[in-house]
Amino acid sequence: MSKCPIMTTAAGIPIADNQNSLTAGPRGPVLMTDHQLMERMAHFNRERVPERVVHAKGAGAYGTFTVTADISKYTCAKLFSKVGNKCEVFLRFSTVAGELGSADTARDPRGFACKFYTEEGNWDLVGNNTPVFFVRDPLKFQDFIHSQKRHPQTGLRDNTMQWDFWSLSPESLHQVTILFSDRGIPATYRNMNGYSSHTYSVWNEKGERFWVKWHLKTMQGIKCLTNAESAKIAGEDLDYHRRDLFNAIEKGDHPKWKVQLQIMPEKDAETYHIHPFDLTKVWPHKDYPPVDVGILELNRNPENYFAEVEQAAFEPSNMPPGFGASPDKMLQARILSYADTHRYRIGINYAALPVNKPRCPVNTYHRDGHMRFDGNYGGQVNYQPNSFNGPVDDKKFREPPLKISGDADRYDHRKGNEDYSQAGDLYRLMNADQKSQLIDNIVQAMKSVPRDIQERQIKHFTAADPDYGARVAKGLGL
Ligand code: NDP
Repeated sequence: MSKCPIMTTAAGIPIADNQNSLTAGPRGPVLMTDHQLMERMAHFNRERVPERVVHAKGAGAYGTFTVTADISKYTCAKLFSKVGNKCEVFLRFSTVAGELGSADTARDPRGFACKFYTEEGNWDLVGNNTPVFFVRDPLKFQDFIHSQKRHPQTGLRDNTMQWDFWSLSPESLHQVTILFSDRGIPATYRNMNGYSSHTYSVWNEKGERFWVKWHLKTMQGIKCLTNAESAKIAGEDLDYHRRDLFNAIEKGDHPKWKVQLQIMPEKDAETYHIHPFDLTKVWPHKDYPPVDVGILELNRNPENYFAEVEQAAFEPSNMPPGFGASPDKMLQARILSYADTHRYRIGINYAALPVNKPRCPVNTYHRDGHMRFDGNYGGQVNYQPNSFNGPVDDKKFREPPLKISGDADRYDHRKGNEDYSQAGDLYRLMNADQKSQLIDNIVQAMKSVPRDIQERQIKHFTAADPDYGARVAKGLGL
């Protein structure tokens, strides 16, 4: 005990007694002058920051990304300037719909958010363990999430709300098929793939742009849980996936992912038969074969869960030179939404927190704001241009121009888009056991849903593949 440091207040004042409140007499009431007690209570009352509306429950770890292939003809990103380049990463996995205390093994997509601390700033690849998403227009996102969360009256998760929304939003069918497939519940975070899902871009020194999709393929192999296995685990250990990741890294069993890229020349987008910026679609591998570009390894646990995992703030808008966005509407909305939610959740200076802080110099003209905990740029002038050697912009980092055309309007995103073929392709590539699991999982989830919603949804399954529709209908006794 003699080696323990002296306990202090937040102001560094030594504390004489942390066991007994200051009272008027041994049986009397507590005195207001007990600042130490007031400070402890007040701080405790404010310990929680708002939990994320989605992706609340997660686990994270640090690691290393190593470049294994020369893709400098596609991107001028310094990270990819040569084979063997390395950078530190922080990766946060999560479930989507559950709250902070929810079970890790729920059937739900998993977040797969990577922050690469590159020498030209943070590159955040904020993906999921699925290559597509439920909606393709961001105006539908809030309603989609409401339908997956709790019923306004009962406060319960509600199958009727979920299937009502999905059956009225056929663009969800592809992702619904993945969610209810065997891959809908990963065995561990280490045994699942990650995908950028969105189409992004990369650009090279000549100013040529390529559309890309990022894939992170688990080198531990895909392993999944059945409904029965996941329910049993949830009853015994709500934090099963978080525990597995921490323990694996702690004992030196460092999980790895092969990072791959599908690359489409900019011009191809105009004629490719699949809408390349539709988040409900993949690019079939035979059209754009994935190319290996690196290895991501997780090898260090955080020291403090709140400081590093809870305060981690990922932004799809973090794209250093050589990386770019795409016209994907959902990505465009996320570019606003992520930074916006961090400003609300952890405050305007969130980017300066240690887990979010770039490992390269940061020179902005942002000043002040709640919890400005660094030096706030001291006496440097806070406007630009200036005559005092303040930071300046440099045209060499300019992204090539992107041609945009068309009249501003609210275009029906369902027109000219079909929602069924890729869901059908996935169904047809499943083996007999995977098909049976898919049908059983769907039937279990749909059996309590009103008949008209069941019938509406079965039409979608049938349009993807008649056998798919017939088997769900049979399972539901229709
Ligand atoms: P391919 O046969 O070339 O690829 C099929 C892909 O499906 C593989 O990446 C495979 O992953 C993955 N897969 C297998 N079972 C499941 C499952 N239960 N849930 C989710 N993914 C699974 O075919 P295509 O590229 O033409 O795609 C056919 C269908 O495969 C698509 O409609 C899509 O549903 C799905 N898919 C396609 C991806 C793509 O980027 N093209 C990515 C992921 C899925 P693995 O190699 O790990 O076994």
